[in-house]
Amino acid sequence: MKKLFLLFFLLHFISYGQKAVGLEICFEYQKSLKGFSAEKDADDALNDILAVIGAAKNFYLIPCDEINNALALTYKGERYIMYDKDFIYKINKATNDWSGKFILAHEVGHHINGHTRDFLIASMLDDQTKEKQREEELEADVFAGFIVAKLGASYNQIKELMETITSEKDDKYSTHPNRTKRLEAIKRGFDNAQVNLNIDLQSEGNTSARLLTANSVILAHIKAIGGIEAINSVNSVMSSANVTIDGMSLKPTAVLKMMSPNMSSMEMSIEGMGTVMKQKYNGSEGYAEQQGNKIPMSETELAEKAKEKGLFPETYLDVNKIKLVGLTDIDGIEVYKVKVNDYSFRYYNATTGLLVRTEKIEEENGQKVTSVQDLSDYRKVNGVLFPYAQKVTNGTYVIHMNFTDVVVNSGVSNWDFK
Ligand SMILES: [Zn+2]
Repeated sequence: MKKLFLLFFLLHFISYGQKAVGLEICFEYQKSLKGFSAEKDADDALNDILAVIGAAKNFYLIPCDEINNALALTYKGERYIMYDKDFIYKINKATNDWSGKFILAHEVGHHINGHTRDFLIASMLDDQTKEKQREEELEADVFAGFIVAKLGASYNQIKELMETITSEKDDKYSTHPNRTKRLEAIKRGFDNAQVNLNIDLQSEGNTSARLLTANSVILAHIKAIGGIEAINSVNSVMSSANVTIDGMSLKPTAVLKMMSPNMSSMEMSIEGMGTVMKQKYNGSEGYAEQQGNKIPMSETELAEKAKEKGLFPETYLDVNKIKLVGLTDIDGIEVYKVKVNDYSFRYYNATTGLLVRTEKIEEENGQKVTSVQDLSDYRKVNGVLFPYAQKVTNGTYVIHMNFTDVVVNSGVSNWDFK
């Protein structure tokens, strides 16, 4: 979000031609109308796209003649998709009628995946940022491929579009990937759309009918816990829990703190003994401390922590790498099992979309130990559902955490992670 404010700040000072000016004109013009209205065709297309994934329409779709393209952006907390009607018309004419829909779905994909910009601001981006943006473009392409496949397009129809608007040049210095990479991503979206689970998904009343890929399971979860906007507004979480450990009479309490993107702190106390355990990670270093004995995080642990890009894994999991293993059950409840990587799995309730279990295979002293975390009792705090009950089963011990309080965006500072 910060990046975007900076972007708009720069918009006023850096002139990179027609595009920035065009955007401002569109914003100003639309503001003067006191509302945003897209043409019916575009609006219908957007409805079709959103119906595929069951997402709510929380975008402003704005016609903007100045941009000769379409783009997704977030401005002052609102999501926009701008499109050049003339450009869409021409590209449809030059190729086929699926092109406009694909382009629109691609922009929706940026928002669904939590990307904040889709600008051609090559001159302002360093190579690393461009690399990140190229990744985002491919995510948006996978999404768009999935959507148009579901709506009935053929891969060759979208290929025709790509052959018109992309090039095969080396993309190292570009914001957009080259044609081969984009076609691969689109193909993956088409493949995802073909996945058929071995159950009767169309049966009446089955709310899981749309959950056909790992990506859609993730999207359903994001929607279930409150939606991407609500999730993105969470910068810190402070929660207090009563802890019980099976087979032990001690009743510790724990205070957990997290701050975006990946800082974490856990302090466990026992009445009469004070703090008995701490675990901290400040974004680059971490340690565990027990009775004054401080042990720094291992290289492996640090590498794991560095992979965390936000407080909610579903917002940054690589949709190109995760896989839907299939439908299984936990205690008689149908769940989707999603493979994050060879040693990490996540399970989502097939009806509600909520995350009910995570499973990690860890190496401890040369032995493989499976750590299972069960999540339940979801309650809403600041528009986002949090699991108030967690049970961690790690090898032989079982820890229950029952949360008494969860506070969002308050009571947490950098000092908590030192
Ligand atoms: Zn894009």
